[in-house]
Amino acid sequence: MVYIVDDEASIRSILMEALGDAGYQVRDFPSADDAFKVIPEEPPHIILSDIRMPGMSGIDLLGKVREISEDIQFIIMTSHASLDTALQAIKLGAYDYLHKPFEDLGDVIVTVDRTVEMLFLQYQNEQLLEELENKNKALTSLNSRISKEKEEIQKINHLMSELSKTAEVTQVVDIFLKQSAEILEDASILFLKHLPSYRSLSVSQAHNVDPQKVRGAGISFKELSQQDYIQRISSIADAPELAEMLVQVFQKSEYVVFPLSIENQLAGAFVFLEEIHDMQSLRLLESFVQVVQAFYFNAVMQRRIHDMAIKDPLTTLYNRRFFNERIEEEINRSRRTRFPLSCIYLDIDHFKKYNDQNGHQSGDVLLKQISALMKKSSRKTDIVARLGGEEFCILLPHTDAEGAAIKAEKLRRLVEGTNFANREKQPMGFVSISVGVSEYPSHAHDADALVKAADDALYNVKESSRNRVALASVGEGFKRDFEPLPVPKKEAYKK
Ligand code: GH3
Ligand code: MG
Ligand code: MG
Repeated sequence: MVYIVDDEASIRSILMEALGDAGYQVRDFPSADDAFKVIPEEPPHIILSDIRMPGMSGIDLLGKVREISEDIQFIIMTSHASLDTALQAIKLGAYDYLHKPFEDLGDVIVTVDRTVEMLFLQYQNEQLLEELENKNKALTSLNSRISKEKEEIQKINHLMSELSKTAEVTQVVDIFLKQSAEILEDASILFLKHLPSYRSLSVSQAHNVDPQKVRGAGISFKELSQQDYIQRISSIADAPELAEMLVQVFQKSEYVVFPLSIENQLAGAFVFLEEIHDMQSLRLLESFVQVVQAFYFNAVMQRRIHDMAIKDPLTTLYNRRFFNERIEEEINRSRRTRFPLSCIYLDIDHFKKYNDQNGHQSGDVLLKQISALMKKSSRKTDIVARLGGEEFCILLPHTDAEGAAIKAEKLRRLVEGTNFANREKQPMGFVSISVGVSEYPSHAHDADALVKAADDALYNVKESSRNRVALASVGEGFKRDFEPLPVPKKEAYKK
């Protein structure tokens, strides 16, 4: 689109015709003022303008056009006499100038063509620049995405390398808590462990939370039907019991839950005590949970394999092999520390009869129940083992014969007083145990002898009566390996 501005009608019509024939769209204006009424609304690509005209001059028009656009190209038409003015116009931003009168109209066309060509190149250049800029932007965002992803991968790698240093479930959870808290600038996080046998979830570990609040915190589904319970734990994040507990105990109504599943069963849930709006953090946490799930599963499996090797499947007490290992260790420890180590050997009375009367399965139940009693009434450091059949041993580190005998007697009374099924069919009218007690260093020099001393004491009970505790005895001339240090008696052990 070319505008021709000239006060001479003849010039306008010559140019209109010539440029029209050359394929341009052309409009003409008799004055700069007329032209400028149209230019802002319908800007042309090129203006061919005379300089001297009544009203606004061509130079003024150039100035006004430049104010609204840099893109409209200006060609000044001038007579030879005003060449200076033409040069001034060039300085002001005109692209070219033409001499009037035109000696050859072809020159005019060439000048306009050249201008158009320049415009086209300029336009192409702009497009290229724009394209380049877009590519640059894409590259920058790709770069930042890659560096963020790299950062994420590094964090996941770090998590994995820490996790691979342990096979303990609590440590696995701990590592996860610490590292995921870092992603969120030290968030408060709870780990709720699922306890299927209690139908509950209990806060077992936490990060950045008041330990006072953590103690005893949890949710229970005991009141629910089996079906409702299963529904609750399958979408634990939506459980109203969880929301209620978080408000009551931690004063939090905004939280994010990541369930932790092992073998398609809920093992626990990580609860972040805040909203997580940042999608990137959320995505990274999801990856973290996936990773920790695998390591948690591995730790659970390792523990199961380990338990299988050291525990009796029926009673879940330690097996004979583990007992034999531990008693050696404990004897050595006792030698080092000079504190006594006691051994309680225990046998169920008339157990054959119980089996015969009530069936082998009832016998198994009784074994489990008595095992549970033994475990419940023992300290964490005691080693409660099933040596075979209905014979059990409890190792009591840091305990002398007197303390062990008191404990044995309590256990004997507990069994005697417990209302086991079919107890009335037993010869004495209740289920009972006979117990032998021995102590290192007072009754033996080594592990085997310590167990034998207790077993011998037990044998004496079985020979004379039953349902009794007997202390081991030593032959004449027996000399202790060392004089044991006195053990402080706990209140519960005092008679
Ligand atoms: P005593 O008062 O002299 O100890 O008599 P007892 O019948 O308890 O002793 P005995 O050693 O004669 O019998 C032990 C019985 O324990 C025999 C065996 O059938 C039973 N028994 C051993 N292991 C198991 C087991 O795993 N489950 C069950 N139900 N019974 C077992
Ligand atoms: Mg027996
Ligand atoms: Mg026996």
